[in-house]
Amino acid sequence: MIIFGTKSYLYQLAILTLVCGHCGNPAAHTLKKRVSKFTLFFVPLFPFSTKYTTQCTFCGTQQQVSREQAEQLEAAQTQGGGAGRDHLQAPQPGQNPYQR
Ligand SMILES: [Zn+2]
Repeated sequence: MIIFGTKSYLYQLAILTLVCGHCGNPAAHTLKKRVSKFTLFFVPLFPFSTKYTTQCTFCGTQQQVSREQAEQLEAAQTQGGGAGRDHLQAPQPGQNPYQR
């Protein structure tokens, strides 16, 4: 007897402040990725479905977004953190004693 099925994994990717399309509040939205995997004898083998959703924490409305949208939202969230902005470390004029 072969036992097979599916198993879903839910990953929270980011928390974003967006204006909700349902309740109109500028509320925090969670960006989640749900991966469904095919399992054989309860062992997950390979993912067959990946879906991205945002959920409004104010009214609870879930909205499905495309992978491209999800990546854009996640990238926007990462840039807001301020990490990795090395161009700010460039020497500023007037602070270099060897500069005439
Ligand atoms: Zn809402």
